[in-house]
Amino acid sequence: MPLELSDLFVAPGSRVAVDERFVYDDLSAEGENLTVSPVAVKGQVTNTGGLVELTYTADFTYSKPCDRCLKETEKSVCRVFVHTLALSAEHEDSDDIIVVTDGALDLFSLVRDDILLELPVRHLCSENCLGLCPQCGQNLNEGRCDCKTQAVDPRMAILDELL
Ligand SMILES: [Zn+2]
Ligand SMILES: [Zn+2]
Repeated sequence: MPLELSDLFVAPGSRVAVDERFVYDDLSAEGENLTVSPVAVKGQVTNTGGLVELTYTADFTYSKPCDRCLKETEKSVCRVFVHTLALSAEHEDSDDIIVVTDGALDLFSLVRDDILLELPVRHLCSENCLGLCPQCGQNLNEGRCDCKTQAVDPRMAILDELL
């Protein structure tokens, strides 16, 4: 479902509204156990006399296991993206320009790339997540375990030997 923009490119002052709901079933393949809700995409493409600009908000939730304790954790994301569109790559030095060769924008793929970049590298259920006990695997957010040996700091181990 490409967004047809040929008319917009030749009509300064015109605009095209964007209101879509994209489902990316294949995103799960990208990351480890990643689940992404349908993405609500709302915005517009405007031609402000030569400059064609796409502005949209992507609204969605995603879920994957916490990096530390592996608990399935959902986060919501609401983010504005702005792109400049052009029919040809006149300024080859500007990577920010999206070239729409035949006037049809593949919005589905663009939003997909945008939101993938937006997913944080670090995914924690909470900033204070205690993670799992390295010995028994107990989720330390839910309670302590009986393991005596804590994760030993190598510097402390040397100190122990000296004493
Ligand atoms: Zn956690
Ligand atoms: Zn333990």
